[in-house]
Amino acid sequence: MNKETSRILKRIDALGEISDDKQCLSRFYGTKSHKKARKKLLKWMAKAGMQTSTDIVGNVKGVLKSSNPNAKHFMIGSHYDSVFNAGKYDGPLGIILGIEIAHAFSKQNTELPFHLHVCAFADEEGCRFNIAYLGSSLIAGNFNKNWLKKEDDYGYSLSRLMKKNKGDFKDINKNIIPPESWLGYFEPHIEQGPVLCDENTAVCLVSGIAAQNRVNITWKGISGHAGTYPMDLRNDALCAASEFILGVENLGKQNKEKLVTTVGKIKSEPNVSNVIPGLVSHSLDLRSPNNKFLENITKTLYYKALKIAEERHIELQWEIMQSNPSVTCNNQLKEALATSIKKYNKKLIEIPSGAGHDAVMLSNVAPVSMLFIRCKEGISHNPEEYVSPEDIETSFKVSFDFINELAKKNEYE
Ligand SMILES: [Zn+2]
Repeated sequence: MNKETSRILKRIDALGEISDDKQCLSRFYGTKSHKKARKKLLKWMAKAGMQTSTDIVGNVKGVLKSSNPNAKHFMIGSHYDSVFNAGKYDGPLGIILGIEIAHAFSKQNTELPFHLHVCAFADEEGCRFNIAYLGSSLIAGNFNKNWLKKEDDYGYSLSRLMKKNKGDFKDINKNIIPPESWLGYFEPHIEQGPVLCDENTAVCLVSGIAAQNRVNITWKGISGHAGTYPMDLRNDALCAASEFILGVENLGKQNKEKLVTTVGKIKSEPNVSNVIPGLVSHSLDLRSPNNKFLENITKTLYYKALKIAEERHIELQWEIMQSNPSVTCNNQLKEALATSIKKYNKKLIEIPSGAGHDAVMLSNVAPVSMLFIRCKEGISHNPEEYVSPEDIETSFKVSFDFINELAKKNEYE
């Protein structure tokens, strides 16, 4: 194993140890462990020779500056928050690879024709506030101020959390790198699916990222005594939600070639066995490679929810939390990455990403590119998540060569 790979592995393990839960890896946005991870990342970036900073959302940023003041910007990034009971590679692998690449450049003392940034995005999973990409949306100048009012499950608001970070809400979408100054964005990330294992290949190109809609749905019925209310006089919010959720699954199954549908989070009140549920809220996650189709499906489900609510005399609230169109990776960057893959990997394949990534937000300002890295059996969002040292070594060689070849071109202004 070369020294880069062994350092990457050590750092992945070290970050994987930082968790809010003793039993498993859980590092939600803005928690104690999240802040601890932030400090570690800052230290590693500084060690790699980068100028470091953080921002109001909690992104950790490092940069190797070009001496050319008009140089464009190139960023390598991924996220350092996690889901509950997570694996340690999802997110951190991309950041740590980026730090290692920057380290290699600063060691060589190479004069860079572009400013090379590494960004560890504070929140991508959206587990705490049910809003994905909080970190990268700030970098892309797309932070929606309405999000500040959002609260987590314990009533703690996003604005309260962010007030503890450096920065000003007023300027939240200012001081960003303007689109014309971007050279590109690159995100190495585990595949989180089984294709690379099936194809027996360590890495691959990513063609693009599926469109995604996130909706919060609330059903307001009437709570009542489970023993005294006759069945036909009830306004049971949980039964309404259940009818809807099975409809969501059905629609997904009917359109499985181009759609996945998930209700992953649900809250029922008062949530006791002898009371009819009066208030239920749940998430809805819809994804498709086809923007128009996703728009139509979202409307279809909205009308279905309205109908159920009307028939069951339930009040419905439908709140679209996020709507991200599909993303196509930049052709020029993809070609350059393909050349590097061919040097260090026997096979070259290209697949789309069903999972969302920070590249979605960055695509609003920069040409984006992604490299997928094989994870064992395609398992992710799970402690069983695993990437072999050999595959990490390949991903480092490919990623470094990709950036190095871009740097050799020296024609960016
Ligand atoms: Zn991820």
